[in-house]
Amino acid sequence: MYIGTPTGAMSTRAKLEEFKKKPGPIVIGATQGAGCMGAAYEFLFNLEKWLRDQKIRKKVELHWVTPEPYLGHFGIDGMPLGEAMLTKFMDMFNITYHTGVGVNEVTATSVILSDGTVIDSEFKMLMPPFTGVDFIENSPGLNCPANQFIPTLPTYRHETLTNVWAAGLAVNVAPPLEQGEVPFSVPKTGYPSDVTGKIVANNVIKTIKGTGKLEEKAWGEIPGLCVMDAGEKEVIIVSNSLFKPRVFALMIPNVIFDFFKVFLEKYFMWKIRRGLSYLP
Ligand SMILES: Cc1cc2nc3c(=O)[nH]c(=O)nc-3n(C[C@H](O)[C@H](O)[C@H](O)COP(=O)(O)OP(=O)(O)OC[C@H]3O[C@@H](n4cnc5c(N)ncnc54)[C@H](O)[C@@H]3O)c2cc1C
Repeated sequence: MYIGTPTGAMSTRAKLEEFKKKPGPIVIGATQGAGCMGAAYEFLFNLEKWLRDQKIRKKVELHWVTPEPYLGHFGIDGMPLGEAMLTKFMDMFNITYHTGVGVNEVTATSVILSDGTVIDSEFKMLMPPFTGVDFIENSPGLNCPANQFIPTLPTYRHETLTNVWAAGLAVNVAPPLEQGEVPFSVPKTGYPSDVTGKIVANNVIKTIKGTGKLEEKAWGEIPGLCVMDAGEKEVIIVSNSLFKPRVFALMIPNVIFDFFKVFLEKYFMWKIRRGLSYLP
């Protein structure tokens, strides 16, 4: 079952209500090849908070599974203090973590890791890798790699097909780092999707009008801007560029309330509803 649809979310809720009656071990994580680990971390910390609210936390052994070589790597070789902060969170909230592992098999009652570890589980949520949509898969002329994302130049024009452009998730982004034994991919979050969408719109206009040099910005050079929800807490992630080398990079915890996450959502919806998408 996929949690990222309204129906999937509602059935996950029903499953958790069932779980409450018979609590047991839980496994949350990202599988090999996954790239948007932040979203899985969010689910982990939100679920941990929910377990405490339901007063069943002590009955639940909570496990985190990730292909990242260390906590807070996020597919971009981490951010300053990120590993220390997430390790602290794991210790504080009594979460057992397994880094640098893939998932070999999922059964009704367990998750079997690539290193042979078998973790019992009454409930699990695992984030798989993102892949391109079916129309890309059905268009072999686009010459996409196995992940079905579109190969583009830094202008977000297809590498060889001049009338094809891609923005956001659809763009193929090569990992900037050497992969370890367990592969993972780069995060493709909302902010770079927004930025590349604007670049494509401007470049298409320039191409039609035949004016000016096309705008270029490699994915890894787009600023990092993200708020990670962590169960009525949050971690604000800001950097001048997503990939290293970076001039500055900050991870700021806010343990009082997830204020910025809520603010960002309200601001984004306000902007889109009024057609003000040119705003940052
Ligand atoms: C569980 C989860 C949590 C996330 N959390 C965060 C977060 O906290 N912060 C953050 O910044 N990012 C987050 N992301 C990533 C973020 O959602 C993506 O970066 C962003 O949605 C990408 O935008 P997009 O427009 O490129 O693609 P999408 O949002 O996927 O939009 C593509 C659209 O195209 C439509 N479509 C597909 N095929 C066709 C077709 N043939 N014809 C017409 N339409 C079609 C789809 O239905 C979809 O509406 C999360 C992702 C997931 C899965």
